[in-house]
Amino acid sequence: MKILPNLSTGKCPKCEKGDVFSSKGNIFLLQAPKMYDKCSSCGYTYEREPGYFLGAFYVSYGMTVFELLVTYILLQSFVSNVWSIIALMFMILVLLSFFNFRVARLMWINLFHK
Ligand SMILES: [Zn+2]
Repeated sequence: MKILPNLSTGKCPKCEKGDVFSSKGNIFLLQAPKMYDKCSSCGYTYEREPGYFLGAFYVSYGMTVFELLVTYILLQSFVSNVWSIIALMFMILVLLSFFNFRVARLMWINLFHK
C-alpha cells in the first residue's frame, strides 16, 4: 500500500494508473475539483457507499487547523495587528481549500482501500 505516492500523483489506489480527479479545480474561477466515479483503468469505484467521503471532511478539517496554526505561528512574529493576521489566515484558508479537499479525499480512499 503506497499512500504517499498516490497522494502526490492523484492516482487510483488499486491500480495506480487511472486518475481520481478529472479536474483539480480553480479557486480563482470558483471551479470545484471534480472526481471520476470509477477508475478509467481498472473500474475501481471511488465512492464505496453513500456518504463515504464524509470522513474526508474530518481529514480536511484537521489539515486546515494545522495549516492555520502554522500560519499563525509564522505571522505572529512579523505582523503586530491581530486583524491583519486573521485576514491573512482567512486568505490562506480560502486559497488552500481546494487543495485540502483533493488531498483529504485521496487520503480517505487510500486509507480504506484493501
Ligand atoms: Zn484503478
